[in-house]
Amino acid sequence: MIKFGVAGNSNSFYDEGYTQTLEAASWCKARGIDAFEYSFGRGITLNEKTAINIGNRFKEEGVELTVHAPYYINLANPDPEMIKKSYGYILSSLKKVKDFGGDRVVVHPATQGKMTREDAVALMVENARGLIEVLDEAGYGEGYKVCFETMGKKAQLGTVEEIIQVCSLDSRFYPCIDFGHINAREQGILKSATNYNTIIQKMSDFLPKCKVSNMHVHFSKIEYGAKGEIRHLTFQDEKYGPDYEPLMEIFHKNALEPYVICESDGTQAEDTVAMKKYFFSL
Ligand SMILES: [Zn+2]
Repeated sequence: MIKFGVAGNSNSFYDEGYTQTLEAASWCKARGIDAFEYSFGRGITLNEKTAINIGNRFKEEGVELTVHAPYYINLANPDPEMIKKSYGYILSSLKKVKDFGGDRVVVHPATQGKMTREDAVALMVENARGLIEVLDEAGYGEGYKVCFETMGKKAQLGTVEEIIQVCSLDSRFYPCIDFGHINAREQGILKSATNYNTIIQKMSDFLPKCKVSNMHVHFSKIEYGAKGEIRHLTFQDEKYGPDYEPLMEIFHKNALEPYVICESDGTQAEDTVAMKKYFFSL
């Protein structure tokens, strides 16, 4: 079943006087939102007890929790000590999603740094391979999904091809296809259903069916410049795109069942409801 979710709380949630993410469970349920992505982008501070409480509340409402790992993870860092730290952040994120009763953690894979693209990608792939053993040792077996995200800035690793390469390494590595990022990085490449379909086809050529059908998706309109992503926008934007309608048509036509998380700037609840409504009108 396709799921539509939000990344964090919307402006409207706070405008209505709510303050705590615990309250977001019933708030999302009431709006027909299926999933909630909890961000630890700036660090993992939530304690175990609170995480379990949040997990229970969301479970009661039937809203699934996913986790976004810290932004400073970098699997192409030349310093092995820093790679150990990145592994640690991924494990801590998995612990949170376990407490939440979920199974998906989204990870920004790496930045290019001073290396050539080729060297940076090779290092990222090598360290992603090293992560397999780290997950095994920590007991995060089959069922957990580490979703590597396509990135919006040219200096970041995470083109569609690079994400496919990493995701080919292990059954737990899933793609998080951020279509807003792809559009921003590639200067507005996503205009039509055919453009979206090209990406889905490329994934299907190299990845098992479940990783395409059940992929993680981030969607928002994003302002971009020559170096790629500048900032997230809302669905009100008419300049940068991309548009969600053709993507929903492709999901529908191919009977895909992704987790579509809306990352609009402050209107993620309203915008994900718009996507869901459009999808089910097809
Ligand atoms: Zn992200």
